[in-house]
Amino acid sequence: MIETTKQYLQSLMLWELLKGLQLTGRYLFKRKITVQYPEEKTPQSARFRGLHALRRYPNGEERCIACKLCEAVCPALAITIDSEQREDGTRRTTRYDIDLSKCIFCGFCEESCPVDSIVETRIFEYHGEKRSDLLMDKQRLLEVGDMAEAQIAEDRASDAMFR
Ligand code: SF4
Ligand code: SF4
Repeated sequence: MIETTKQYLQSLMLWELLKGLQLTGRYLFKRKITVQYPEEKTPQSARFRGLHALRRYPNGEERCIACKLCEAVCPALAITIDSEQREDGTRRTTRYDIDLSKCIFCGFCEESCPVDSIVETRIFEYHGEKRSDLLMDKQRLLEVGDMAEAQIAEDRASDAMFR
């Protein structure tokens, strides 16, 4: 009975509303922590694992030597590679696909690569409207690499300082 009366009086005095307003008032003049994305963005680590890219050497040559270590280590079986030997005796990929709908962004491919070819960039603003949009082929991966090379090289340099 006492409890019911108390609840009745509290609802009559809009007690819950006052409690809510008290909480709002407490944060009204505090420093705002909401980030106004996409105009504002939170800081990213140099080791952020975003969209994949294939890198080239400064002379334009592909880094990838088709060793297939990344394909073997990928726990999601997201990488498919075909390769052939070139006339100069070097081996290069004829096909390098990453299915982003399978990828779990673990970074194992990047860690396993002996020539720092496959990397995960800081790019996270991408989307696909159908499954094929998330299938990255060699050409698309090289294009991402060309676009993001400056940032990748900068991140590699800063990362090396902390090793
Ligand atoms: S990040 Fe992990 S899951 Fe994605 S392709 Fe690389 S190894 Fe596979
Ligand atoms: S990306 Fe690196 S690990 Fe993968 S096949 Fe090419 S050289 Fe080997």
